[in-house]
Amino acid sequence: MIGLVSLAMTYKRWERQAPEVAFDRDFKVLGLAPSLALTVQDAGTGLRQVTIRLKREGQDVLLADESFPRSDAPKTKTYEVGKLIAEKYKIQVGPASLAITASDFSLRNFLKGNLTEVAMGFVFQTKPPQLEVLEGQHYINQGGSECVVYRVSEDAVVTGVQVGARFFRGFPVNGSEKNLRFALFALEYDLPVETPMKVIARNAAGNESTADFWHRVFPRKFRTRDIPLEDAFAQKVVPEITAHTPSIKDQGDPVKTFVEINSNLRRQNHETIAKLAKNSPERFLWDGAFLQLSNSKVESYFADRRTYVYHGKPVDQQDHVGFDLSVVKHDPIEAGNDGKVIFADYFGIYGNAVLIDHGAGLISLYGHLSSIDVKPGQMVKKKDVLGKSGATGLAAGDHLHFGLFLQGVPVNPTEWWDPKWINDHVLDRLKEARSQSD
Ligand SMILES: [Zn+2]
Repeated sequence: MIGLVSLAMTYKRWERQAPEVAFDRDFKVLGLAPSLALTVQDAGTGLRQVTIRLKREGQDVLLADESFPRSDAPKTKTYEVGKLIAEKYKIQVGPASLAITASDFSLRNFLKGNLTEVAMGFVFQTKPPQLEVLEGQHYINQGGSECVVYRVSEDAVVTGVQVGARFFRGFPVNGSEKNLRFALFALEYDLPVETPMKVIARNAAGNESTADFWHRVFPRKFRTRDIPLEDAFAQKVVPEITAHTPSIKDQGDPVKTFVEINSNLRRQNHETIAKLAKNSPERFLWDGAFLQLSNSKVESYFADRRTYVYHGKPVDQQDHVGFDLSVVKHDPIEAGNDGKVIFADYFGIYGNAVLIDHGAGLISLYGHLSSIDVKPGQMVKKKDVLGKSGATGLAAGDHLHFGLFLQGVPVNPTEWWDPKWINDHVLDRLKEARSQSD
């Protein structure tokens, strides 16, 4: 038996598979603070030696040189090449290359192992893109949206507005002139008024320019509400939602499962909207002010903070990121504006729901429907009927939940329902930028 085992091990060490090297991304240029990782792996006998060199005209900089013992040969090893370059080399503009060698513990090649040699040519660039914000005053409501217009040089590949940890990417103002861009952004309702905001432009080398813009933030107070959690309500909503949502596990108790749905499924649903926003077209599909459901009565406001109380004890707290609107039972639900249906199905806490992409990262949500009359991919016009109101998902009675999300961040719909706000903050600003660029 021992003989067989050692034969198998020897055989394995004769393997022909040389180590594999892979970068975490494609690159043709690297900048002043390059972000680049290299993974070296050898699935067979493991890594024996790895060297990484940076070569430039007349220069040869050793970034890494590692030998491993046979008894503890790693199968995989990742090197932060960008960091190593920044530590060991003073970056100069011009062409350069990375040379990598990696060997393993195979008994082939006169016991030197299989050898991989890779050379990657690229160019060092140190200049960031040019960036200039067009003049303008930006009044921002906490929980609200705003638009900024800026000009960048050709080499900018990523541009937009950074608000705290949130990034809102920008889009060309005109299809023809790519250098003039706008970004719609939001100050999320639960972020402080002093949250830093700046415009960012980054090129392929990763070099970044930032620019401030004049802005003033108005703090807003949102309501707080206690919501009594009745057994009858939990018994109505929990089985329906879990039946449609395999990712939610029954916690063995309707109230615990309710909290799981109310917290985790709510978060998952909002993450899905953020993912869908990544595919949003660069141009507006909408036209004019958004529509609040005709003849509807407001039952709940944007960003109400709700404490769910069960038998006198708080069991959960969540924020209501939309409006609850009611008319009559099974009321026809209208599209808030022109756009493309990107989702029409059961959607977690929102029950039967429709999502419309209005372009440039703006998505509207229609929840708790009793029936859906549209299909994903369908283009709709403002006021087109999407389905009928209902009480599916986390709903006690028949109503519409209407939500607006900007690149995944919930925003207050009241601004988008207001034709004056849309003109002052978005449309007139873009019109003026276009006329200046002619
Ligand atoms: Zn609601």
